[in-house]
Amino acid sequence: MSAASLRPSFYSPSGLVPVAAWIMVAALLIPLAVISGMVYCAAVVFIPVVKMRWIASLGLGWVLGSSAARICRLGKVRATLFAVGATGLAVASAYYAAWGMHRALLTAARLGADLQFNQELLRGFLPTEIARWMSWQVQNIGGPGLSGWPLVGVWIIELGAIIYFTRTTFRAAWDERPFCESCDCWTVGPEEVVSLPVSPSDPAWQRVSEIGPDAIRKLQLIEDGNESVSLSVRCCPECERANYLSAAGGGWHANEQGETSYQEITVLRNMAVTRQQIEELRALGDELDEAYHELGQRPADGSLENEPVSYSDSAASSP
Ligand SMILES: [Zn+2]
Repeated sequence: MSAASLRPSFYSPSGLVPVAAWIMVAALLIPLAVISGMVYCAAVVFIPVVKMRWIASLGLGWVLGSSAARICRLGKVRATLFAVGATGLAVASAYYAAWGMHRALLTAARLGADLQFNQELLRGFLPTEIARWMSWQVQNIGGPGLSGWPLVGVWIIELGAIIYFTRTTFRAAWDERPFCESCDCWTVGPEEVVSLPVSPSDPAWQRVSEIGPDAIRKLQLIEDGNESVSLSVRCCPECERANYLSAAGGGWHANEQGETSYQEITVLRNMAVTRQQIEELRALGDELDEAYHELGQRPADGSLENEPVSYSDSAASSP
């Protein structure tokens, strides 16, 4: 076998965006963002505590980020750029809607009057009206009791906070989940296969990404138990072909000043593996458990290879 054919493949998204996803963004995400923006504005206007702005920005960011990720997932979007764009559009719509409502809500709050759903309220959504309202506040006195550049600064910080919280929520919800193109569905997981007492910074991980999971037996076992790497899989629920292995691990590391900090490192991300390779990894975990059980402790030195276990023949072909 040539070296090239031994190389495992890693998942990369196809970049497809189904028509349904465009419809869902237009018909679900944008209206939801507009309503959230109005609710946000009402919260800021009617609950006039400065801290409230932060809680409100956090809440709005959470709603926008998680719904954008969820809708794109539901719409089977395999292009992260589209998902990010949809999220950006949601933030813009929400912020615009908040401004559209601001004058009407502030008037209602100051005068203690009920909010009238009339032409005047709708007119507030016109871009020219928003611009006029903004410049009036800058010249006179705005919502937080400021005017001029300090007020503009507050608006920029406010928008920045909304973007920041949206981005954080979106990134947490939009994971690197692979999509099975032949079954037209998302893979499920992650399911942990085995947790190994090895370092995530072991140079042998390079070998694993070059020749596949068989090289995992070349990793050096560590004795202090401070570090470990967890191997997990995401599999297609419909077929046996789409299986992806990821590995991440952490440990306490000391720097030159002697300060220790916990570091989480992703070692492998979505490497295509077979069901048989997954079973071999499970078996490796069982063998390790047994070996530790018999010894009553972890082996003092040696790599996984030194374990009294059988090898898969392809591992023997590596130098
Ligand atoms: Zn499948």
